[in-house]
Amino acid sequence: MAYVIDKELCLGCGTCEAECPVSAITVDEDGKYIIDPDQCLDCGTCAGVCPVDAPKG
Ligand code: SF4
Ligand code: SF4
Repeated sequence: MAYVIDKELCLGCGTCEAECPVSAITVDEDGKYIIDPDQCLDCGTCAGVCPVDAPKG
């Protein structure tokens, strides 16, 4: 399993990217934050720090 960022909710603040322990979160070609499912540890840190609860596990 891996977390997925709801692009409709995401504000693009970058907090999750900064806090992910394995740097699984990057910005795609559309400027949207995305999670690499192959790197994600399912730890939930991104969901915990997101102001709008965009990362869903
Ligand atoms: S669940 Fe954890 S490992 Fe996966 S993207 Fe979020 S912070 Fe990174
Ligand atoms: S913390 Fe939430 S709002 Fe900010 S970039 Fe990550 S998913 Fe988007």
